Amino acid sequence: MRIFKFGGASVKSPDAVKNVARVLQHEGVEETLVVISAMGKMTNAFERLINAYHNNTDDVEEAFKFIKVFHNEMLLGLFNKGHKVYDSINFLFGELSMLMAKNTSDDYDYIYDQMVGFGELLSTSIVSAYLNEIGITNTWLDVREFIKTDDRFRGAKVDWKLTEATIVNKIDRSKLNITQGFLGRHRDTTTTLGREGSDYTAGIFAYCLGAESVTIWKDVPGVLNADPRVFDETELLRKISYTEAIEMAFYGASVIHPKTIQPLEQKQIPLYVRSFDNLDQEGTSVSACYGIEPEVPCYIVKKNQILVSISAKDFSFMVEDNISAVFKKLHNYKLKVNLIQNSAISFSVCIEDKFNEFENFYKDLQSSFNIKSYKNVTLYTIRHFDDIAIKNIKTRGKAIIRQINTETAQLVIQENMQ
Ligand code: ADP
Ligand code: ASP
Ligand code: MG
Repeated sequence: MRIFKFGGASVKSPDAVKNVARVLQHEGVEETLVVISAMGKMTNAFERLINAYHNNTDDVEEAFKFIKVFHNEMLLGLFNKGHKVYDSINFLFGELSMLMAKNTSDDYDYIYDQMVGFGELLSTSIVSAYLNEIGITNTWLDVREFIKTDDRFRGAKVDWKLTEATIVNKIDRSKLNITQGFLGRHRDTTTTLGREGSDYTAGIFAYCLGAESVTIWKDVPGVLNADPRVFDETELLRKISYTEAIEMAFYGASVIHPKTIQPLEQKQIPLYVRSFDNLDQEGTSVSACYGIEPEVPCYIVKKNQILVSISAKDFSFMVEDNISAVFKKLHNYKLKVNLIQNSAISFSVCIEDKFNEFENFYKDLQSSFNIKSYKNVTLYTIRHFDDIAIKNIKTRGKAIIRQINTETAQLVIQENMQ
């Protein structure tokens, strides 16, 4: 059985959806499970709607309309008027409206997970109907029936035992199955695996089904040695070992979701990252090989970081007790630590404030610690660095922290104004 994953870019327009059909026709459709994300940038659009709804602002109507218009144009580009898919999509919009009208919770993360997943439900309903319409018979599955999680909204943890048992028992392997990425369920409630989590969904299905491979279809030729949106010159990595891919994803290479690789490595399932435009190209394979090929420096960029330097007000050293107190708070405020550096009296961390909690963390720590922060800095990680690579990064701004070990150099940069 093969697992395919199509991200937002591969279903961003009617032509893109038609291209998904072309990919499936080219690759064959038997014994395949296809995981699909929300269309184009729809998850961002849903986030705007959710924020407006949660803050009770006037923008709700406009944000909702934007989503409706987008999907309606998609339908018009793919189906004749009167096709039954229009009813399915209207039904989903009705459900979303009802949810918004009836909800009494004020918990942002809970509300987020209940609303954002409509992006995936709409997307898969449209693609599945289109494929059926043109003769690529498929079964639409509600992924929440399969991926069971805890109730940590916006970053739910998978209950592997329950998930595996459900997937093994309920998936018909002989068919072409179409399902959503990103979503899970805790009891009767929808959860999500975190932004960009559809790759992880593909990894979960592959692991549970003992799949022969996973292919992630992209708008790039494969995994490049740097984000092409940030670097002018990039090179295609033809082969990457599981270990290297885990390292790259861990440091923030956004091309593959960090949790995707480990389940695949466990069962030695190869992961292919291929271009949905050029089906003749092999792209990148991630497998049990060694290192990367070609061996070039790989750049990973994390923007919007906060660098915090912390020292104790009572002049004590920043060792076990103080560091563990700081870490406890970092964990409590859900701040993600991307780099740590410590000296005798100061402890620095480069963090990501995904849940907007930094000010609370700061206030909480202020009584016992002196805290200095640099907001909006960028963390550059270079795997397989050389001197030229480090110089190249230093041209981008002022280096506030530099940390080097055998394979990896990391620099926190205050970027030059553009
Ligand atoms: P998807 O449609 O699968 O969600 P994304 O937009 O999340 O795709 O990811 C694809 C984009 O990731 C590419 O268009 C590219 O700009 C960017 N990207 C960032 N880093 C890399 C990298 N190392 N290799 C390839 N693409 C990368
Ligand atoms: N649609 C979700 C997102 O944009 C999940 C995914 O695409 O992987 O984050
Ligand atoms: Mg994506």
